[in-house]
Amino acid sequence: MQQGLRSEIHRLLLLVAVLVIIGLANGYVAETLVVGGLLYTLYTLSKIHKVFQWLASDKDSMPPEMSGVWGDITDELYRYKQRLEQAKKNYTGLALRIRQITSALDDGMILLNADRTLDWWNPSATQLLHLKDNDRGEVISNLIRNPSFVSFIHSGEFTQPLEIRSPRNPNLIYQFMAGTYGRGELVLMVRDITRLRHLEEMRKEFVANISHELRTPLTVLVGYIETLLGSTDSLPPHWDRALRQMDQQTKRLSGLAEDLVMLSRLESTAPPSLYQSVDVCGMLAGIVDSARVIAGKHNLSLECEPGLALAGDSKELHSAFSNLIFNAVKHNPQGCDIHISAAQAGEAIRIEVRDNGVGIDEKHLPRLTERFYRVDESRTSTAGGTGLGLAIVKHVLARHNGTLSVTSTLSKGSTFVCQFRKTATNV
Ligand code: ADP
Repeated sequence: MQQGLRSEIHRLLLLVAVLVIIGLANGYVAETLVVGGLLYTLYTLSKIHKVFQWLASDKDSMPPEMSGVWGDITDELYRYKQRLEQAKKNYTGLALRIRQITSALDDGMILLNADRTLDWWNPSATQLLHLKDNDRGEVISNLIRNPSFVSFIHSGEFTQPLEIRSPRNPNLIYQFMAGTYGRGELVLMVRDITRLRHLEEMRKEFVANISHELRTPLTVLVGYIETLLGSTDSLPPHWDRALRQMDQQTKRLSGLAEDLVMLSRLESTAPPSLYQSVDVCGMLAGIVDSARVIAGKHNLSLECEPGLALAGDSKELHSAFSNLIFNAVKHNPQGCDIHISAAQAGEAIRIEVRDNGVGIDEKHLPRLTERFYRVDESRTSTAGGTGLGLAIVKHVLARHNGTLSVTSTLSKGSTFVCQFRKTATNV
């Protein structure tokens, strides 16, 4: 028990004893106790009044001087008041810092309530989206009416950012990212990515132009080197090795230029209209025949459901399937089996290239379709790879409502599956 409370009990007991003695002396014990009790209650009320007065006073004032239990109570209240003030100061400081940080952001930040009404936003959001003070409480889709934005904001699925034209200026491209917090509230980030997209366009154009320009001189070089290789008898013997290396490297460069031109075309042009009917079995048989020419001792086999047809661009599809089949030959040792199959799978068309060769370590699989990504630099450069083959496959498939999936186990082999969804325009 606390010291103050103990002395208050002692004081009360002493008061009762004194009152009983006085009562016995004057013959009115009960009356004296009642009067004493009333006086004690008045004393207590005056103390409570003092405490309330202090609590209502200025937050920094010291507690009134009090003894006994009242001193303990006011001391405890004082400490509690101090802690509360400190916490308040900390939170105010934190809120100020958050406000300063969000004001310093170039990106717009908007807080939306669960019903997608505007709650708060930073100055950049004001600038980017021309928000006004009285927009607070307004449903955001009334301010940004773009249908993609409206479905994005109500989708609840924010793993991918959304890119749309600025609601006010169609020359600007905005990127929106979102995340939920609390009870369904949303934090929305908006960024002007116009410059970034322009730079990307410039890069694409540059790569497309340079690879296009490289094609003609490389074709001339390849032609001359081939001619020279045909007449090595009339040349000094040490030229033979040099010419063979020149032949190999110029062909490699030429392949790289061709792949870059193809990739640039896939990125910059609209997908093909899916009306051209492509005979899948005929196309695969042709590619397998050409692959056999370079295959050496690989065992190539083809199994194709007769009459299978795909809608699309035959040049693009030919390039995609060639890349997969030639990869299986290029990247695997002599003697391995390569099986190509094509069949209807429910509503989809499934084309599979399976080998029992070297396989690919699991850690490489997610990055395999990135440009210039090669599992083993030394092995693939001797195999003549550019690292663009699977990037081309991925783009071609995406333009034909298709997807690529890869499964592979080291030393056991790899399986590349192209799955084409059937669409209204499929044949
Ligand atoms: P590349 O021009 O080097 O063939 P790709 O993009 O076509 O480039 O392939 C990327 C990498 O994936 C290759 O460098 C190779 O290491 C690996 N790869 C592709 N296909 C196979 C396969 N069938 N077996 C083993 N490795 C493969």
